[in-house]
Amino acid sequence: MKYPGVLFCASEVSPYAKTGGLADVAGALPAALQGLGCDVRIFMPLYRSVREQEHPLTPLARNLSVPVGVHDYTVHLWESRTAAGVPVYFLEKDEFFDRGFLYGTPTTGDYEDNAERFVTFCRSAYLLCNRLNWYPSVFHLHDWQTGLAAAYLDRLRRRDSNFAHSGALFTIHNLAYQGIFPAVHFGLTGLPAEAFSPQGMEFWGNCNFLKAGLVYSDILTTVSRGYSLEIQTAALGHGLDGVLRERRDRLHGILNGIDTEAWNPETDPLIPCRYSATDLSGKRRCKKELIAELGLPAESRETPLLSMISRLAGQKGFDLIEDIMNDLMELPLSLVILGTGDALIERRLKEFANLYPEKLRMLACFDESLAHRIEAASDIFLMPSRYEPCGLNQMYSLRYGTVPVVHATGGLDDSVIDVMEHPESGTGFKFREYRASNLLETVSAALAFHREKEKWTAMQRRGMSQDFSWTRSAGEYLDLYRLIAARK
Ligand code: ADP
Repeated sequence: MKYPGVLFCASEVSPYAKTGGLADVAGALPAALQGLGCDVRIFMPLYRSVREQEHPLTPLARNLSVPVGVHDYTVHLWESRTAAGVPVYFLEKDEFFDRGFLYGTPTTGDYEDNAERFVTFCRSAYLLCNRLNWYPSVFHLHDWQTGLAAAYLDRLRRRDSNFAHSGALFTIHNLAYQGIFPAVHFGLTGLPAEAFSPQGMEFWGNCNFLKAGLVYSDILTTVSRGYSLEIQTAALGHGLDGVLRERRDRLHGILNGIDTEAWNPETDPLIPCRYSATDLSGKRRCKKELIAELGLPAESRETPLLSMISRLAGQKGFDLIEDIMNDLMELPLSLVILGTGDALIERRLKEFANLYPEKLRMLACFDESLAHRIEAASDIFLMPSRYEPCGLNQMYSLRYGTVPVVHATGGLDDSVIDVMEHPESGTGFKFREYRASNLLETVSAALAFHREKEKWTAMQRRGMSQDFSWTRSAGEYLDLYRLIAARK
């Protein structure tokens, strides 16, 4: 079979519903795969946000019955198409999905019925195929919310000839989130007792939905090669490194792409002045304007502008930033941080910003347009994440001629070439051991390099010419789909 049929099952898909990078992948990758000739379709829950955005929806099936534990839930299916023309199917079960947040509220935490919600979603994927009379070669599953779909397929294909040739590819976007529920929830799954074992989805006496995806899928992927190796170690395996080591011959790392149209300095409508690798003068204008917008002193134009755009979370390396902040502020630079999340991190960064009003801005909001202006205006982008499955902003930075300084981990290590090690091909700066002093040293090295204008510009241009398009990643996924489709 040349072009396998693929059903993407994902709990969030941009632009319909988003909390993180998974939504970007599930939104962009299907379009790129379709461009390569795949019959790819998407299945996701009908959240409140989908209705609010007023996408045109056509009813596909009403009053289907889904067994979940002792219940038989009634669900409905809807269909639509993405802007790129990819079919999208929505699962309507308002009791579960007509809510303001996807997985829980900021104040009360995760929803108590998350196990039930995503058991229902996973079971419905196969109802959808029956309804469409379309049996894809590959179920491309994403993160813990869809892990059980792999367990269901594993059984179904032995019993139902329609699914006999289907396989599952499971993508880990962030191993830290596993969907762990008390053992009593196992009854909801409808799986036979042997599935609740160390060889199945049991995890220290609990149910682990992500683990179901890991053990029952034909192929596993994660979002960078570096992360695929790191999650096999105790340090970053979040308790599942043993399972992953056992399946390492099935585990592949494929770096995410980025939206190269939305993030293109030559056409970006969100930045004050457009520019290209051949003519970077617009970037200087962007810097001048942002400095004025932020109310930083005019002299800041002459020193490097550093930036961070990030969720404020422990993963993102703010502990190192806080440790070196006083030293950083002694250096000839300005720093702007855009981020929301952890209230404690926000408070500490704001305290620093009050201490250094001439050099530091802490912008505690989520503002996509401002993110573009910051990328375009900055000279250096800081991404000292403790771990980073893939990361997007370092790739946006490279495209915008903003030189990244990163911790050599996961996707950061894979997408940035260290100029100190590779002077001819380098695109940024890396530090290896996760230590504040290493970050400070690397920033100092970047500042020294910045003074060598020609070398700096050559490095910017190299970064701007890297290919981070989805077409590249989609080709790698297609190879794996073909492996699954070819299996007997
Ligand atoms: P993660 O998914 O772990 O948050 P990524 O780097 O993969 O990290 O993706 C984060 C995305 O969210 C990027 O597109 C980044 O620009 C964006 N982002 C994060 N915080 C903000 C913010 N405060 N304002 C605008 N965009 C933000």
